[in-house]
Amino acid sequence: MKVLLASSEVYPYSKTGGLADMVGALGKALASAGHRVGIVTPLYTGIRERIPELKPVDLPIDFPLGAARVRGEIWSHEPSPGLTIYFIEQPDFYQRSTLYQVHGRDYPDNAERFIFFAKVAAHLALHLDWKPEILHVHDWQAAPAALLLHHQRKLPGWENAPRTCLTIHNLAYQGVFPAFQYALLNLPWDYFNPAGVEFYSQINYLKAGIAYADTLTTVSPRYAREITTEEYGCGLEGLLRNRAAALVGILNGVDYGEWDPEKDPHIPEPYSAALLERKTTSKIALQKQFGLAQNPEIPLFGNIGRLAHQKGVDILLDSLEEMLSAEMQFVLLGSGLPEFERGFRELASRHPSRASVHIGFDEAASHLVEAGSDFFLMPSRFEPCGLNQMYSLRYGTVPIVRITGGLDDTVIDIKEDPEHANGIKFAEYTSRALAKSIRKGLVLYGEKPLFRHYQKNGMTGDFSWTRTAGDYVKVYESALAVSP
Ligand code: ADP
Repeated sequence: MKVLLASSEVYPYSKTGGLADMVGALGKALASAGHRVGIVTPLYTGIRERIPELKPVDLPIDFPLGAARVRGEIWSHEPSPGLTIYFIEQPDFYQRSTLYQVHGRDYPDNAERFIFFAKVAAHLALHLDWKPEILHVHDWQAAPAALLLHHQRKLPGWENAPRTCLTIHNLAYQGVFPAFQYALLNLPWDYFNPAGVEFYSQINYLKAGIAYADTLTTVSPRYAREITTEEYGCGLEGLLRNRAAALVGILNGVDYGEWDPEKDPHIPEPYSAALLERKTTSKIALQKQFGLAQNPEIPLFGNIGRLAHQKGVDILLDSLEEMLSAEMQFVLLGSGLPEFERGFRELASRHPSRASVHIGFDEAASHLVEAGSDFFLMPSRFEPCGLNQMYSLRYGTVPIVRITGGLDDTVIDIKEDPEHANGIKFAEYTSRALAKSIRKGLVLYGEKPLFRHYQKNGMTGDFSWTRTAGDYVKVYESALAVSP
């Protein structure tokens, strides 16, 4: 199979969240299974400095973008056999130190930046010398490329243009812009209608992909069902129900090359299920780094992530306010909405001996939080897949999660299956329900043999990419079977 992936962020070159991890790992897994893989992504600030050996690709980029014309250059890098990264150099659009926003506000030219990105992705899919069979686009930033190839396929001689797959990593982010920006596509207006890219008189980039990609996936089976309902569908549930036959939920895998306590360079001492007592070294290092009392006996709860409404920050703050009167510690590594950042800073200043927060993005510290915590809190309002709870499982850190999306698909509560229990789950979106689960955690922590049982179940679970990559290949095969 020959596949070109298109994503606005790819680990290890750029990252704001799980999208980058997933695309980086999927590319690697497909290539090591013997497929020919390319990944197209913007050349952001700092990438060239980190990879000086980039090679120019002889495919001139000079496209109309509405009434303007925009040029760019493609540079390639081959990190492993069978995998090529294609970086799009367009300094006006991408030479920025942050990807989508500055000071909490979207860049005003995001419509242009990502239509251009989608145009380049479609162009590479059509013209790369190794002739990709599938263009796999990720999220709203790349989704319009599925429409561009759908249109291309109707032109004489292009019936066999690559088939497309869209993966929805988070339906809450759709890329909605004023209708006049449709002109940036330079397509006939035929697609601007409610069955196509129009969304309440605006243009919706994700909808362009949902309406026109040959196959659709999302990142967990439960989220695939949830997004066809009004509660989780973000206004696109009707279209998603119409396309249900083409929609599959595939749980993201974990890149165990990056996330494995047996060989993680970011933690002070390796450990495994058989050598679990060595996890304590990470706990002490974490307590030290966060300025808390270095005591292995105090149960330590961790959290990492974007401080956004999705992540259940409001109920997390309220439940901690109540629970921090108990003998426990809490550490947070995250950044996001200013009011949430302030909320956590204030929480830590009211409970300085029990709570410590680091506002910011820090890849190395995130590994130490996963390794050093006893419990990981993930009370999300919704969670398409969620990676941190899967990292927690591998690190013997018991996840406490709300029953939604991928959190439900990956964590097993004692009520569901005592033998395989690996975490604590709650359903109601309230601080009271979360506080009750934290209390259950404290009780569990006191029952060491049972706590070890949970940890070992988590550590021996397998969310590796081998299975996940195979599921994507099946989806690509079904896309190839779609008639022109
Ligand atoms: P989402 O994609 O919704 O942000 P996921 O759980 O799927 O959530 O993935 C989040 C990824 O980003 C994880 O790899 C997590 O460790 C990382 N991450 C989030 N916030 C931070 C941060 N402040 N510092 C370091 N890594 C972070």
